[in-house]
Order: sequence, then structure tokens, then C-alpha cells
Amino acid sequence: MAEKQHTKECKKQQKLARKQVMAYDKRFPNHCKTCDGWGYLPDDSSCLECLAKDRCPRCGQPFPKGLNKCPHCSFDLNNDRGRPDDSIECNCYINEEEDWD
Ligand SMILES: [Zn+2]
Ligand SMILES: [Zn+2]
Ligand SMILES: [Zn+2]
Repeated sequence: MAEKQHTKECKKQQKLARKQVMAYDKRFPNHCKTCDGWGYLPDDSSCLECLAKDRCPRCGQPFPKGLNKCPHCSFDLNNDRGRPDDSIECNCYINEEEDWD
């Protein structure tokens, strides 16, 4: 059986995703590594490493209580996203398997 390969389009997406992560790390090297700059954890609880310590999840500077926006990097707690995810869920394999039916 031939080795399965990602499609060209899929490889392009993966490259793009990695680029976005690298750009984020470069721009915000002090982002919280516990929540990856999101301010909360996958189970929706506040991150104890930044928000609970009044630090901005994205730039790591002090984040005054009561504010929704970071005065240093203008990270918006309600609207901005954290570090992008470089693990793309591709379905170029799944498409191949569908041919078996
Ligand atoms: Zn793929
Ligand atoms: Zn955090
Ligand atoms: Zn900030």
C-alpha cells in the first residue's frame, strides 16, 4: 500500500498555521504558557497563572481588575483569542477512506 500523503492544499494550511503560531510567539513572547494566552483553560475555568494573578494572558503585564481590555497590548478578554493552534485537523485522509465503501 502506498504511503498516505497530505494533499497539497492540506500542506499549505499546515504551513500557514505554523507561521501564525511563530508570528504570535514573536509578537507576544511573554504570553501565559499555561493557558497559551487565552486567559482560560479548555474546561472554561480562569487561568490561575495569569488572570488569577492579574496578569495579561497575552503580554504578561499587570492587568488591572475590573478591566476587560489590557492597557498594554489592548488584549480584549471577551473578544480576542489566544495563541493560535498549529495542530490542524485535516480530513485529507478521511476522504481517502470514504472511497472504500
Ligand atoms: Zn492532511
Ligand atoms: Zn494563563
Ligand atoms: Zn496585554
